[in-house]
Amino acid sequence: MSSTPKVVVIGGGIGGLSAGIAFRSRGIDVEVYEQARALGEIGAGLTLSPNALKAYEGLGIRDQIEAVGFAGPGQVVRRWNDGVEVSRVDRSGYPDIFGAPYISLHRADFIDVLAANFPKERLHLGAQAIGAETVGDRAVVRFADGTSVEADLVVGADGVRSAVRRSVVGEDAPVFTGTVCFRGLVPYEQVADALGSKDWTLYVGPERHVISYMVRGGDVVNFVAHVDTDSWLGESWTQEADVHEILDAFEGWHEPLRTLLGAPGTFYKWALMDRDPIDSWSKGRVTLLGDAAHAMPPFIGQGAGMSVEDAYVLAAAVAHFGQDVPEALRRYEQLRVSRANEMVGRARAGRNKYHLKESWDPKPSGAQNRTGIAHDDIYSYDIRDHVDFDEPATV
Ligand SMILES: Cc1cc2nc3c(=O)[nH]c(=O)nc-3n(C[C@H](O)[C@H](O)[C@H](O)COP(=O)(O)OP(=O)(O)OC[C@H]3O[C@@H](n4cnc5c(N)ncnc54)[C@H](O)[C@@H]3O)c2cc1C
Repeated sequence: MSSTPKVVVIGGGIGGLSAGIAFRSRGIDVEVYEQARALGEIGAGLTLSPNALKAYEGLGIRDQIEAVGFAGPGQVVRRWNDGVEVSRVDRSGYPDIFGAPYISLHRADFIDVLAANFPKERLHLGAQAIGAETVGDRAVVRFADGTSVEADLVVGADGVRSAVRRSVVGEDAPVFTGTVCFRGLVPYEQVADALGSKDWTLYVGPERHVISYMVRGGDVVNFVAHVDTDSWLGESWTQEADVHEILDAFEGWHEPLRTLLGAPGTFYKWALMDRDPIDSWSKGRVTLLGDAAHAMPPFIGQGAGMSVEDAYVLAAAVAHFGQDVPEALRRYEQLRVSRANEMVGRARAGRNKYHLKESWDPKPSGAQNRTGIAHDDIYSYDIRDHVDFDEPATV
């Protein structure tokens, strides 16, 4: 291994902090710059599937993440109007089948774990990047306050509205997916009778679906209620939502579900945006990671998972190829672009699968595979098995 380069990561979200941890785990000098004045995440839940947890195992923090997660007993699909159970998968066997469980957790708890594993003095808050370029054999990031920093490699992990992406691929605006979602958190004890279990549950119906799962160790229910719509008229992509707006959107749906959607609390409405897939994420010594590279709708729960897989590979490549940053980026893209772009396509297709148009298809999605578990090929994947930079390059 040649001498290790200095890396700057833009964005201190899930992908950026994971990248920071991954670089440090390989002994690489890294600094993270985040535009917000304090680290944080929206008050909502997130799921991590086995492939994501195996990548975090590779970073040495899987146990800490599992400790703030909830591994629910089952995965249940229900019919929208009468709640009839269409399919049920027992998730308790996932560690044996896939090598890790499927967990759900509060985003703030997740960020806390990531932040606790990255040195505070290397995290620069209130630093808004406006662009990044390669100048000679250095990469330079410019910030809104007029300052700049140099490194051997700049990684844009600055989310779906990435400024670094503009420097890499030019102007390409995020795309409205045609779906908005309402998100809420409700104490389980308030809705225990209505829900009856702590299963991850998907209600599917005409032009809508609702996913609910537990966070905070099973004490709080997170729901995400998706509704198709022609356009998003809001100035911001996030707005506070009125509970009546949610209940109106789910008029006629199963009463116990409406009990959850109508429970007291603060709810938000989101425009779901994604990006058309691109074949290259890098320009010179600047590259992309996470949503900045491959934003996808949440319908297969893989956005965060893909960002930690990216982080694992990029850090391994930079550690292996040292000062040959272009070769490290070539190998990073070789391993990551097609898998992440496939997830974008599958996530987009998920919306059509869940939002019934005319007929009810009672077959659970993806049932025709080895385990009978939808997306089992995604969950079986272990990024650590795919990183072997000692092999000669094939392209
Ligand atoms: C409704 C919904 C549900 C989801 N559910 C799941 C799920 O269950 N499982 C899953 O795996 N994924 C899920 N996702 C996707 C997941 O949230 C994202 O893929 C993940 O957060 C991406 O992380 P990221 O670090 O790339 O981007 P972000 O989390 O957006 O982080 C980007 C960071 O960069 C900072 N930043 C932005 N611009 C700048 C700048 N110019 N300079 C400096 N800093 C900047 C931001 O402040 C932010 O901290 C969901 C997404 C949505 C919308």
